[in-house]
Formats: sequence, structure tokens, C-alpha cells
Amino acid sequence: MARVALVTGGSRGIGAAISIALRDAGYKVAANYAGNDEAASAFTTETGIPVYKWSVADYDACVAGIAKVEADLGPVEVLVNNAGITRDAMFHRMTREQWNEVINTNLNGAFNMTHPVWSGMRDRKFGRVITISSINGQKGQMGQANYSAAKAGDIGFTKALAQEGAKAGITVNVIAPGYIGTDMVMAVPEKVRESIIAQIPVGRLGEPAEIARCVVFLASDEAGFITGSTLTANGGQYIT
Ligand code: NDP
Repeated sequence: MARVALVTGGSRGIGAAISIALRDAGYKVAANYAGNDEAASAFTTETGIPVYKWSVADYDACVAGIAKVEADLGPVEVLVNNAGITRDAMFHRMTREQWNEVINTNLNGAFNMTHPVWSGMRDRKFGRVITISSINGQKGQMGQANYSAAKAGDIGFTKALAQEGAKAGITVNVIAPGYIGTDMVMAVPEKVRESIIAQIPVGRLGEPAEIARCVVFLASDEAGFITGSTLTANGGQYIT
């Protein structure tokens, strides 16, 4: 029986690549998204992967959304916490809204999505929770105090939960991508982007599919001995 995988922010960018790679690996995939109906509709038409709209920042919406996915496809066995946003500003100019939006989506979103599927994974003695953090959660980034805090929080969350899940057959891991060529990075001014690429030893941005392959590996039955780990994929930009 094909396992069920739910990918948040799964209709665009890195998440879309993850959804497609999991589908190609034989999973029944559900892709969640927040508001870009046009992109989601194009994605589902192109791939045949069903899309589900709710915000990961809203706990009750996550509970209802997961219930709908499970009614359609079956219990979620692989959860990929990929949805994320940036609201960059130097700290002296950062508003409480910018802080809260990023923490609510990028960190609380991981809680809001993982908490409702956790008991089912424990009962079934199998689960994979994979969260997409960032190089900037590992090293910090000026202008991103909110984003760096949330992404570092995702790593701590993973390390704690891995210990709780181990005996129940649940692995919990985090991937820390470097700069990947998606809308999020293409929104950065070209000059800044060029200076970022100059700092990447392999001399290019990463591709969404390169992160998706990491997810497929961590989701597999064969990766059952790997838990609590941070898989860094950043072209050598920051070596931990
Ligand atoms: P994109 O901006 O290209 O896509 C973000 C996706 O997340 C979209 O599908 C969006 O939905 C969804 N999303 C945003 N907010 C919410 C929400 N509240 N609830 C549900 N879905 C939401 O981002 P990327 O593909 O670049 O990034 C994906 C992840 O990878 C993020 O967590 C990001 O922080 C992380 N990352 C990205 C890097 C990069 O260089 N691109 C580097 C390191 C980490 P919608 O389409 O409806 O807007």
C-alpha cells in the first residue's frame, strides 16, 4: 500500500518539487497551500496531485485540513513541514507584525501540523516528520532576526521530538537548505542575489529538486536509523 505524504506549501517552489518527487517515489501525496489559488490550480492540473488550502499558522485550520486529507487519502504517514515566509527587516525597523507572522508560520506552523498527526503516528508505530529549516537558522542572517529565530527553533523542535518518537517508529529530521532558486530568492534584488551566489563555493543556487531528493531519502523506510539529524544542503556555503 502506498504511504500517504502531506507537504505544506506543496504547490510552489521547493514544496512543489517535494510533492512531485514523493509522488514519483510512489507516495499518495496531498499538497497544502495558503492563498495562491492560481499557482495551486495550475500545479494540480499539471501533476494530478490534490491541493488543500489552509494556513499552517492556524491550529484549528490544520486540524480540519488534516482531517479532510485523511478522509480522502488515508492516515498521514509522512509529514513535510515546508511552508515558510520571509518578512525581512533590520531589527530596529522590524515590526511586531513582521516578527509574529514569521514565527507563526515558520515555527508555530511546525507545531500546528505535527501535533494533530503525532498520536496517529504513535498508534501505527510509523511516521516521518521532515521540516525544512534554513542555513539562516544555523548561522543567523542580518535582516532576518524573525526568520533565523524560527528556523533555529525548527531544529530544536526536531531534536526534542526525535527523542520522543524513536520508540514509536517515528523519525524526525530537519533539512537546512542554502539558497535555492525559487520565488522567495528571486524576489531578492538581482545585485543582492549575485553577491549571495558569490558566497556559495559551488558557484550557483541550489535547485528545488535537490532538496526534494533529500526528503525522499529521509521519508524512506531505509532511513529508519536516521533521526534528530540536520541535513545540510547548501553548496558548501556554511559547513557545520
Ligand atoms: P516559496 O515562497 O516559493 O513557496 C512558499 C510556499 O509556502 C507556497 O506554497 C505558499 O503557499 C506556502 N505558504 C506560505 N505561507 C503559508 C501558510 N501560512 N500556510 C500554508 N502554506 C503557506 O518558498 P520556497 O519554496 O523558497 O521555500 C520553501 C521552504 O524552504 C520555506 O520554509 C523556506 O523558508 C525554506 N527555505 C527556502 C530557501 C530558498 O532559498 N528558497 C532556503 C532555505 C530554506 P501559496 O502558494 O499559497 O502562497
